[in-house]
Amino acid sequence: MKILVIADIHANLHALEAVLKDAKDTYDVTWCLGDLVGYGPYPNECIQIVRELPDFICISGNHDYAIVANMDLSTFNPIAYQALHWTQNVLTAESNHFLAKIESTMHINSVTLAHGSPNNPLWEYITDTNIADQSFANIRDKLCLVGHTHIPRIFSHDGIQCNESTVNTTTPFNLSKRQYILNPGSVGQPRDHNPLAAYGILDLAKHTWQQRRVAYDIRATQDQMMIEQLPEELIIRLSFGM
Ligand code: ZN
Repeated sequence: MKILVIADIHANLHALEAVLKDAKDTYDVTWCLGDLVGYGPYPNECIQIVRELPDFICISGNHDYAIVANMDLSTFNPIAYQALHWTQNVLTAESNHFLAKIESTMHINSVTLAHGSPNNPLWEYITDTNIADQSFANIRDKLCLVGHTHIPRIFSHDGIQCNESTVNTTTPFNLSKRQYILNPGSVGQPRDHNPLAAYGILDLAKHTWQQRRVAYDIRATQDQMMIEQLPEELIIRLSFGM
């Protein structure tokens, strides 16, 4: 089975459409690692598209959760807060209902799914091998997929120590030897200084992980963000992938 792994779409319709077009016919099912909404200008449109994908599975991200749980949004940084507040106002009842019923973690086909980390699914960022190491201690599956940092990464554990491998988009990464935490990066707001939309293809039969990047119409998303008067900083960062 080949799985399209997407994360952190953040209401960026043009990036999502580019990913689905680029990945077309190369996967059987889609797993989404949360943060469908927040930051971007198309929350309802993105939810509508993903929920109609065949064999679509989704877990909740911190932005998705914050909106439907009615939590105090001022705990987010000011620009994230502004975008979340805007999202809360435009989200349809149907979209709200969809976000409200998704779980924060899942185990499927011997793979753990969590937005942040298995230890703290909504909020923890796996940014280095120390944090990854603590996560491995609580993962019973061979594979764990996470998002949240918006940076593609590969961490592995051989039973003794945790390592990080270089991500490349040219050759499939072989997953056969160790336990892994894989982050596909962000569809809608990449932060690794590469503005291209990021996603991954997990092949459970061949035990490979293929990181992919695809160009999308950044300007179209930015134009819509301007129309919706979303924070300028959020608009500009899409051009630089940061
Ligand atoms: Zn995110």
